[in-house]
Amino acid sequence: MLRAPTRALAIPCLLAALTVLLAPRASAARTSTVPRPVSMYRFPVTDGQLFYEERTDRGQDFATRPGGPVLAIGRGLVMTNRGYFPGRTVVLQLLEGPLAGRFVFYGHARRALVQPGQIVRAGQPVSIAGGVSAPGDPGHMEVGFALTADGVIPRTLRCDHYTPSGGEMHTLMHQLNPDLVGTRPIHDPPRCPKKKRR
Ligand SMILES: [Zn+2]
Repeated sequence: MLRAPTRALAIPCLLAALTVLLAPRASAARTSTVPRPVSMYRFPVTDGQLFYEERTDRGQDFATRPGGPVLAIGRGLVMTNRGYFPGRTVVLQLLEGPLAGRFVFYGHARRALVQPGQIVRAGQPVSIAGGVSAPGDPGHMEVGFALTADGVIPRTLRCDHYTPSGGEMHTLMHQLNPDLVGTRPIHDPPRCPKKKRR
């Protein structure tokens, strides 16, 4: 009794389902696989530029070409280019997207390319990678969330310096470039030695 109307409904439904299935693929092939909620943000290193994922600690560590540009993750207001982190530290306050209002720091830079009060667009170079105060790694950089406009970052009591705030930046970078940043953060050492009982 229900057959005829069911069949009549089935074809439009099937077409709708196919459209839903095919549409995201087509757009994914055209642009990228960045999830829509964070699609206004940019990976901090230019496409095709050297990038190695390093430890997630108070921010996300990575290595890039020493002297290469490091990019603004999002449209933001430059708060300082002399933040507390070792090396020249640029701090931006994000102006767009789900992370609007948050402070992002870029630590260990050789040189800052922006001035306080300046508004930068997502992907604009903000500093020059230098690995300053990061011995043994000339292209070392760190990007993370700061607690304040002058770049104070969360403390950690763990031996691997991991913080949830660093984990948050790791997740964002994984979303922005899953080929270069893995699903799980790198810990070094992977497990802290157990504390001795007194
Ligand atoms: Zn670090």
